[in-house]
Amino acid sequence: MMGTFVLLAQALLYFSVMTLLFHSRRRLGIGVFVCALGVMHFLETYLAAVFFIELPFGLISPGSTVMFSGKLAMILLLYIREDAETVRQPIYGLLIGNMLMVALAFILRFYTPVPMNGYNPDLNLLDQLGALMVWGTALLFVDSLGLIMIYERLGRLFGSHPVMRASIALILVLTFDQLMFYQGLRIISGAPPSALLGGWLAKSGAAIVYSLLIAAYLRWFEPVVMSRDGTERLSDLFGKLTYRHRYEALLERSGIDALTGVADRSRFEAIAQSSVARALAEQRPLSVAIVDVDHFKDINDRYGHVTGDDVLRRIAETLRKSVRASDQVFRYGGEEFVVLCEGMSHEVAMAHAERLRRSVPAALENTLAITPTVSIGVATAPTDGANILELIHHADLHLYEAKRLGRNRVVGNRPADRLNPALS
Ligand code: GH3
Ligand code: MG
Ligand code: MG
Repeated sequence: MMGTFVLLAQALLYFSVMTLLFHSRRRLGIGVFVCALGVMHFLETYLAAVFFIELPFGLISPGSTVMFSGKLAMILLLYIREDAETVRQPIYGLLIGNMLMVALAFILRFYTPVPMNGYNPDLNLLDQLGALMVWGTALLFVDSLGLIMIYERLGRLFGSHPVMRASIALILVLTFDQLMFYQGLRIISGAPPSALLGGWLAKSGAAIVYSLLIAAYLRWFEPVVMSRDGTERLSDLFGKLTYRHRYEALLERSGIDALTGVADRSRFEAIAQSSVARALAEQRPLSVAIVDVDHFKDINDRYGHVTGDDVLRRIAETLRKSVRASDQVFRYGGEEFVVLCEGMSHEVAMAHAERLRRSVPAALENTLAITPTVSIGVATAPTDGANILELIHHADLHLYEAKRLGRNRVVGNRPADRLNPALS
């Protein structure tokens, strides 16, 4: 009775202080939480080896039950609320830091310390703990990765049951951990078999208690999650805010070119090939138009880079306004843009590109003494290529041809399609 009370009191104190730090992570930085998590590892291992509480079902250790299980619960919470990139940091930090500590202690063994009155280092304990540390640390590393993977997997089964998901993941991992850690304990401190079963039951109990606490914490202290359309997404708190969602959101945001606001090269790389593959599978043509500003260097040289930047912004805006809603505009390089258009024959794509070519000087007329113009090279799948590299290559050849013929024109894959602005 007293034993259970001591453990619960410890678990509540541990959870409250750690989640307080976690909750303040935006103000204090996540480092405070992570440091607090790491600093307890030594005491945790020490207690796991030497301090046991007698409960009706066996011997249990507060170090393992409260602190070790608690640490895994904290790692899970960190993963749920932040992402895999963040949670990886304490996982690797604990592994390396603990190994370093053991190595530093080991080196001291080569030196006989100066005797001090009453304070003699217990080197035997240090040796035993060192071995247990290495073992426990390696297990913690495996446990943490396993925990996150199992938690992710369980999302398919228990998406809307955060308590089930967290407690099953924690119980499975702690069962594995108890079996493995006990082997080390038995060799090093001669822990009796009742510590194996007792420890397992206690860790499973801790898994359930911590899962309930995590669910309550998420519900009451970090509950409101606004989805993009502004409606609250209260269910599936655990599942929706994990790594993948946030990572994809991040990718979406970072795919925008900062200067012009259109999609950037990385976005192009990410989606172009699959757009081509999809169009080919659906037997729809797909055209690539490379738009290059004519004599842009002269604009920079004459009016300066600030004006040059402004011209680029306005050209991007004009392209975006002139394309169809289903077309996509990318900033491909410095003063080069790529437009992807689906479902047009090459002839129609050429006429479309011609409209784009005219829209640029029309929109920028009277802003500078020389009105900027663009040259465009067009290529269409499947005739000009069956993948994005071939298409870009062809469009580039056509662009080069457009420059050679005097700029301010559109060139496609047949001479008949060449449109000379002098004739229009
Ligand atoms: P061409 O008609 O043959 O395309 O001539 P060009 O001068 O446009 O060709 P070139 O590729 O030699 O020059 C492109 C210039 O674009 C060079 C570079 O300084 C400028 N540039 C690239 N990115 C930016 C940018 O973000 N802002 C500004 N202001 N200039 C840029
Ligand atoms: Mg260029
Ligand atoms: Mg140019």
